[in-house]
Amino acid sequence: EVHALTRLRNVVAITKDDQRVSLQANVELPRETGLAVANGAEGVGLLRTEFLFMNREQLPTEQEQYEALAEIIDGMSGRPVTVRTLDAGGEKLVSALGTLPTDCPNPALGLRAIRLSLKHRDILETQLRAILRASAHGPLRILLPMVTTPGEVREVRKVLTEVAKGLKEQDVRIADPLPPLGIMIEVPGAALAADGLAKVADFFAIGTNDLTMYTLAIDRAEEQVAYLYNPLHPAVLKLISMTVEAARRAHIPVSVCGEVAGDVNYLPLLLGLGVRDLSMSSNALPRVKNRILKLNMEEVTRRAEAIMTQNDPSRIATMLEDYNERYT
Ligand code: PEP
Ligand code: MG
Repeated sequence: EVHALTRLRNVVAITKDDQRVSLQANVELPRETGLAVANGAEGVGLLRTEFLFMNREQLPTEQEQYEALAEIIDGMSGRPVTVRTLDAGGEKLVSALGTLPTDCPNPALGLRAIRLSLKHRDILETQLRAILRASAHGPLRILLPMVTTPGEVREVRKVLTEVAKGLKEQDVRIADPLPPLGIMIEVPGAALAADGLAKVADFFAIGTNDLTMYTLAIDRAEEQVAYLYNPLHPAVLKLISMTVEAARRAHIPVSVCGEVAGDVNYLPLLLGLGVRDLSMSSNALPRVKNRILKLNMEEVTRRAEAIMTQNDPSRIATMLEDYNERYT
């Protein structure tokens, strides 16, 4: 079966009724790009840059960050790479930040992700400089984690413009025009206010891991309540749907890059909600592509409409299971 799936590498992900779906890889380490390409990834939909800040006491230098990013972009041979700025805090402990006051009564709701980068400008500026230098190596997009207000995006764009100006003055080659600047939609408030965010962001990436956690008030790392952690909760599905619709209205790209994106059981529902761009762990790519080839977009869209009238997550799960049974 594995061989049959690897042969899919150069096959385009397209449904039976000719609807194109883009499949990208989530990457956490530079050495993973080989597998991403081997499994047919059209790009890196989510590069988590936390690896640069882990298992160390000192913050990484601009040069170190640049070299790691350049290696990843080179490894993708011209396929676009979406680089997410540091997503530290919450359950993501980053040892190089040990000296910063990231601990607070509720770290999941505290100084983390883009909030931390905006507070510690030196970290943001260094990372953006490294990212812009790497942008000379191939197509790149910049993604901001845990954004909740347009002001955060405007502020980062200002820093990005300044950093770019500084680099150009030093005759450092960077992408021209500047890379697109997009945001994760992974907080319920961001999904609900997606129309406003779409005015300042160039693209959306829906992070269903955190979106589920924050919508249902279930810590993604807390075992005692793990039985309630459910991306099929109608509230989560509504937020995904709202985000997709807002992106469509604003004519900006939207992808899903949480764990659900790599799960064939959720696939018909995500496609049915209008998602056409999925980013997942490289291992999941062949299976997901194989399933897309067997699905009919019109049918999954009708299915999703029926599912979206339901209010009970267990009923939704059953309806999805019934539908998926034909493929198992
Ligand atoms: C998410 O929250 O769904 C996501 C993709 O980001 P991470 O898992 O890195 O928090
Ligand atoms: Mg997240």
